[in-house]
Amino acid sequence: MATARRGVFAGEVGMLLAIVGTLLVRDIVNYQWILVAFFLGTAIGVPLAYKMPITAVPQQTALSHACGALAAALVGTAEYYRDTPNLHGFTMVALIIEMLLGYLTFTGSLMAAGKLQEILPQRPLTYKGQNLVNFALLAGAVAIAVTLVRNPGAQSLFPFMILIALAFGVLLIIPIGGADMPTVISLLNGYAGLSAAAMGFVLGSKLLIIAGALDGSSGLILSIIMSKAMNRSFTNVLFGAFGQVQTSHAAGEEAKPVRSATPEEAAAILSAANRVIVVPGYGMAVAQAQHKVRELYDALSKRGIDVRFAIHPVAGRMPGHMNVLLAEANIPYDRLIEMDEINGDFPQTDVALVIGANDVTNPAARSDASSPIYGMPILDVDKSHTVMVIKRSMNPGFAGIDNPLYYLDNTLMLFGDAKAFVGGIVRELGGGHG
Ligand code: NAP
Repeated sequence: MATARRGVFAGEVGMLLAIVGTLLVRDIVNYQWILVAFFLGTAIGVPLAYKMPITAVPQQTALSHACGALAAALVGTAEYYRDTPNLHGFTMVALIIEMLLGYLTFTGSLMAAGKLQEILPQRPLTYKGQNLVNFALLAGAVAIAVTLVRNPGAQSLFPFMILIALAFGVLLIIPIGGADMPTVISLLNGYAGLSAAAMGFVLGSKLLIIAGALDGSSGLILSIIMSKAMNRSFTNVLFGAFGQVQTSHAAGEEAKPVRSATPEEAAAILSAANRVIVVPGYGMAVAQAQHKVRELYDALSKRGIDVRFAIHPVAGRMPGHMNVLLAEANIPYDRLIEMDEINGDFPQTDVALVIGANDVTNPAARSDASSPIYGMPILDVDKSHTVMVIKRSMNPGFAGIDNPLYYLDNTLMLFGDAKAFVGGIVRELGGGHG
């Protein structure tokens, strides 16, 4: 967290230097429009950053990519009309890559934000021959691009290439479920970066080439890490129509019995433990329970109980989601342990306390080959002596599937909102700040 903050700060300083440096360039003929854009951007960006809840950060990121990509594409368009027909060879290739990626990332990111915000249906929309239609469209754009490189003066073709790129961005996202949007957003981030790098070649700016390449490669690496953590291949994310709304409780299906407990009982079990591993998930983020979790950590640590936090790489809805929340609540960073490192410790753990996590603890991923999450690495909470799961109901999580963990003999369900339930346990333990 400390290095992340430093990284963000270094990025901000770099950006400030780049902006000031650009503004000092003598070629700028008037500052009026720059000032208008500056104030407009600030008026939109600042309230957006402050008002957006942390659970909506993926949507916000998508909107930022849409703006960045549109800016790169518009610069490319302006360059084309300004310099044609004197644009040749390499510059024209770079300009076309910049625009194709820029425009498709613009509409693609808007679609992704709309799906995540549930303004658009989250469901993947598929039809027969969809991939064929998409590829045919892409081939059309590439054919126009090749013609334009050979003959940059063919201006009448130019708007068609833009239209195709815009349409391709929409069509690319339509078959992908809301569930896969965070991975797709990270990929679109990579595209926006590549578009900016191409713009660097067009404008002869080394800074843009470096910054764009960094952005492009980090976006791509992040999407690969996310796909791996969900045990999905890239092609499966892009063409698999995963995230289809699934119902886990078929009508008439008999409800299996589960054992549940009250905050008093949970507090008694926890205070008798020596080793506790807390497993946070998306529900902790929704309930904003991290500060209550910190109080629980304090109350248990004060009793000499060893409390650690198991971090699954895709717990929550964005990479690092749990780390950010727990760091915000000032939980010591050395208590946060990555999945691979902590998984071997569950058999020697008295209590695994799952707070609003579901899929990342689902043992079906290990044992049920027919499960949609089969093969996804999970936190082995079921191997601990006692598992306690805080969630509001028996509803499924993100993958829309039932969790056999809840029916095990060593599992206790703690039904309730994460913040309220953890608060209840803390009160029983005599901790908290009132
Ligand atoms: P999850 O499987 O989505 O489960 C979250 C659980 O939290 C739900 O079952 C829900 O149950 C409970 N919950 C919701 N609101 C709550 C509240 N106020 N209080 C208590 N519980 C609450 O979450 P996860 O285990 O963190 O797994 C993450 C999932 O997201 C994985 O499937 C992963 O592949 C996917 N994903 C993650 C990322 C990423 O980058 N992190 C990106 C894309 C996809 P109730 O409704 O019963 O309360």
